[in-house]
Amino acid sequence: MTDIIDLAQHQQEQILAAQLSAQLRNGWQAGHSRTHCEECGDPIPERRRQSLPGVTLCPVCADWQERKIRR
Ligand SMILES: [Zn+2]
Repeated sequence: MTDIIDLAQHQQEQILAAQLSAQLRNGWQAGHSRTHCEECGDPIPERRRQSLPGVTLCPVCADWQERKIRR
């Protein structure tokens, strides 16, 4: 019985580890711009990332933040 629980926990750990590494691949590649918005999690268009190196926000959130700063 305990063996089954141990096995299930072990499998869950493996799933979590796989999810984390997938997030690392998709998201923060150190030093590079993110593929997804820091604020809302929407994908950032490739063009935007190329024209703005290090960009972390999607156009909508960037626009929203600019307006906030101007006030
Ligand atoms: Zn956003």
